[in-house]
Amino acid sequence: MLARRSLFVIHNQTWIFLAMRTKKHTTKFEGYLFYFIAIFYCGYKTDILTSQSASSVYQANRIYAKNVFHRTSVLSARFYAPSCKAPKNPLIQKPLKLLMRVAMYYSNDDVRLEEMPIPRIGLGEILVKVISSGICGSDVMEWYRIRKAPLVLGHEITGEIVEVGKDVKKYNKGDRVFVSHHVPCNTCRYCLSDHQTACETLHKTNYDPGGFAEFIRVPQINVDRGVFLLPEEVSFDEGTFIEPLACVARGLRLANMKPGLSVLVMGSGISGLLHIQLAKALGAGKIIATDMIDYRLRAAKKFGADATLHTKENVPVEVRKMNEGRPVDRVIICTGALPAALQAIQSVDRGGTVLFFAVPEPGVEVPVPMNELWRNEITLMTSYGAGPKDIQTALELICSGKINVKDMITHKFGLKDTSKGFKLVADAKESLKVIIEP
Ligand SMILES: [Zn+2]
Ligand SMILES: [Zn+2]
Repeated sequence: MLARRSLFVIHNQTWIFLAMRTKKHTTKFEGYLFYFIAIFYCGYKTDILTSQSASSVYQANRIYAKNVFHRTSVLSARFYAPSCKAPKNPLIQKPLKLLMRVAMYYSNDDVRLEEMPIPRIGLGEILVKVISSGICGSDVMEWYRIRKAPLVLGHEITGEIVEVGKDVKKYNKGDRVFVSHHVPCNTCRYCLSDHQTACETLHKTNYDPGGFAEFIRVPQINVDRGVFLLPEEVSFDEGTFIEPLACVARGLRLANMKPGLSVLVMGSGISGLLHIQLAKALGAGKIIATDMIDYRLRAAKKFGADATLHTKENVPVEVRKMNEGRPVDRVIICTGALPAALQAIQSVDRGGTVLFFAVPEPGVEVPVPMNELWRNEITLMTSYGAGPKDIQTALELICSGKINVKDMITHKFGLKDTSKGFKLVADAKESLKVIIEP
């Protein structure tokens, strides 16, 4: 592909001519050639601005539709938009690269390093340079992701603001931030009844193109309610836990977690481990964790579980043995495996709650012994995502050191090795948090 690009911008207020080349420098002959072509197309009053500088590229990019430079081949940018108006006073802003690298998701086994134009920001928007981007368990839920592929995933990011659009008052260039990909409208009936994550707007909003990219454009509504300044104590890497921890904080809040309650966490991946830590911080009684991988059971112990259980055991029976003969008050399901759902229902005590933090894939039905649940006043519930309030909570939990997220990071990769990271997370064996640093 084109390693280097050079650019001619030739304009006379209204006409612009661009040529992109593979070489860094343009010979005099080529310069004249372009000049005559430009005169041919634009007339004699043509001004010539010849430049190979990044700032000119950037300026041209601002003038043109962003896809002008997309997937260029030699001279493919010829004669674009001849009617396009050049700005009266073209401001050459800080030079920026034209293209950025992204990790494009096709499937769990096929994540490719590709290039795309750096998004251009509009009114009220900001451009963030992504510094840390966590791979979430939901990123490798293939049934959930593959229907939209190819796309750039990544929703656990922290970074630095590099460009601020007009009308943005709250933030400045250079601010260290966490950006929430989904934000609620705050006015619909669901938002007003504290179900922001059931808000239609929340499901539709996102930043552009996704967290596994060098830069993201943050739309106005996300700038308004989804950008959080990172306190100095919180590193960029730690900040990638804000989103997953917010989801956990929401789950335990909705499940009415209280001091002294016994808890069974099924599945000891990142969300399971965060549940264990937060339940402990909230004063839980006994905490039991399950998983099918020994590595994760050891992690569960390390992050606060009092006891662990391999899923090959009879979980409902063993849970009773570990909890003074009775089932537990709260069961949190952090795996999509159907057996876990079944064991969960058999492991909850009367008056208790089973929280489906993760669910089996579509089409898989969970048989529910409704009569039994009714008699014992057992609550089955779900929790999806996180709202701004949960993010605030998560930020404070990390900032205060109540939740140790740093030691959950087991791998870090550059953007080009995102596929390795996906493989690790999909295998779910000898890894916990995998972070991509674009
Ligand atoms: Zn996530
Ligand atoms: Zn809403």
